[in-house]
Amino acid sequence: MATTGLPACGVYLLELRVAKPVTVSVGRLGEVRLETGMYLYVGSAQRNLPARVRRHFACEKRIRWHIDYLTTHPAVDVIGAATWERSREWECRLGRVLVAHGAAAEAVAGFGASDCHCRTHLFRVLLSDWRASLIEPLGECAFIANVQR
Ligand SMILES: [Zn+2]
Repeated sequence: MATTGLPACGVYLLELRVAKPVTVSVGRLGEVRLETGMYLYVGSAQRNLPARVRRHFACEKRIRWHIDYLTTHPAVDVIGAATWERSREWECRLGRVLVAHGAAAEAVAGFGASDCHCRTHLFRVLLSDWRASLIEPLGECAFIANVQR
């Protein structure tokens, strides 16, 4: 897949669609239940961001991170990724901005947030135009749709 136009490094939001309620066993987190809806996962790749995005888009991979349990799940579609050339602090800030604007709500405690002090890095979308809440602090994102599925 072409990932030209994405920054070489930075932070990203992975947009996920959960097509029906799912219960997933997520490593040490245990059973995670997600209702139908749209979700956002925040992450950071301070080197080779395009490769990280391609990995998230792939259906088959060795499970390494919490998010891999969702991106490999048959009822979960990875819609695309919004990316910004920013330092790692913005990974956590992104989630806080979304919640502060009422664009998203914290979804699953502990998800993807093993290495920081956030409650979670997985958010449920409340406003379909969630990207608008990020323009002021971050500027326009470079968005890439997952055209593989
Ligand atoms: Zn964090």
